[in-house]
Amino acid sequence: MNKSYVIKPIVDEELPMISHGSGIYLYDVTGKEYIDGCSGAVTANIGHGIQEVLNKINEQGKRVSFVYRSQFTNEAAEQLAKKLIDSIGSEFDGVFFVNSGSEATETALKIAIQYWQEKGNFKKTRVISRWLSYHGITNGALSMSGHPLRRDRFTELLQDYPTLNPPYCYRCPFQLNYPECQLQCANELELMIERIGADHIAAFIAEPIIGAAGGAVTPPKDYYGKIAEICKKYDILFIADEVMTGCGRTGKMLGIEHWGVVPDIVALGKGLSAGYSPLAATIVHKRILEPIRSGSKSIMSGHTLSANPASTAAGLAVLEFLESNKVIEAVGDKGEYLINQLKSFQGKYHTIGDVRGLGLLIGLEIVLNRITKQPFPRSQQATFELIRIAKEKGLLLYPSQAGNDGIHGDAVIVAPPLTITKEEIDELILRLEQTMDEFEAQMLDERGRE
Ligand code: PMP
Repeated sequence: MNKSYVIKPIVDEELPMISHGSGIYLYDVTGKEYIDGCSGAVTANIGHGIQEVLNKINEQGKRVSFVYRSQFTNEAAEQLAKKLIDSIGSEFDGVFFVNSGSEATETALKIAIQYWQEKGNFKKTRVISRWLSYHGITNGALSMSGHPLRRDRFTELLQDYPTLNPPYCYRCPFQLNYPECQLQCANELELMIERIGADHIAAFIAEPIIGAAGGAVTPPKDYYGKIAEICKKYDILFIADEVMTGCGRTGKMLGIEHWGVVPDIVALGKGLSAGYSPLAATIVHKRILEPIRSGSKSIMSGHTLSANPASTAAGLAVLEFLESNKVIEAVGDKGEYLINQLKSFQGKYHTIGDVRGLGLLIGLEIVLNRITKQPFPRSQQATFELIRIAKEKGLLLYPSQAGNDGIHGDAVIVAPPLTITKEEIDELILRLEQTMDEFEAQMLDERGRE
């Protein structure tokens, strides 16, 4: 290949050149086939090359592909916003479109602070978040993220928002077991609020299932109920970061629905346009929007490309596709089929410590020794080695590596397009088996074996 001027995650890394995609498969220019076992970054929720979506973007582009949000509204944005409210609940009343998950959580943060200002409270500006979390790379979003690896370089610029321990039962930060723990990880929120002072705290933010930092860390069934109760008691808004868990990924439109909790603000991204165009959204509950409507009237956030017709047309087409093909309804069964096979891997592979998740968002925690849960030494870069081998075998997996958080080891996410068939799941499992065989042969010395 000629010299590349595209800056890669590792600046001069040579990455395969992609040629095309179809369904769950991607093909590079050498003809190599990959199963998109993680939908890119848990994004390509309906797979690649879906004609209905491409047609809709094309039709929209023929009419108009860009208008500026303060000059015009457009049909695609209006229809998509209505569809979103219809699908997540009429207690929500407004959708603020942006272009990335980071912008969606950053906007959620700004709306939460503005809400309190509209009510005459200018001190409520802090956010409580959790260690082992990721809410985005811009400064506000990164301030909320408990992801040491991504924070480290910018620590001096960031707010110290993450304070709470995560609901990470596999390696409980309190060394307790559920349910005897009585949800200490949730009760701790009350302690944090008491310490900081509720009159300084605007909101609590959480990913319903911890993705990029944790590898589909899934809390116990009564966790979010407890969290919501504490937020209500102390008058603190609950922001659900559904950038990864939303739009059907876990078998429901929003991940938080599994816990029966209604948040104040929801951030969506990734699966919203399923990668067909940059699109994300911050969705606001009626009671949050009301004081803004009757107060300063405008939300102090936004981007040039917010609510642009080409992207919102893509989002609309994706939601229509999900609906007409009853995609979300089938996620629960497919997820169960996949997770059961992955759990059965634990009988064969020494290094699969934990298998967790909901729907088609599944995490595998990789350890040196399954009995002691001893993680691989950082120097072995187990997450990235596993991903490298999988890619060689024609399977794409997503890394979850938060760095030196003191508790978490190595994990990968398996999250294929929601449209995957059972036969394709079998093919994915086969490639994962080949991957694990080689990974263990390479990484595991006799000392690590049970
Ligand atoms: N929130 C969550 C839960 C995410 O998983 C991500 C991306 N991994 C983001 C926010 C940031 O989204 P983006 O990369 O689109 O800015």
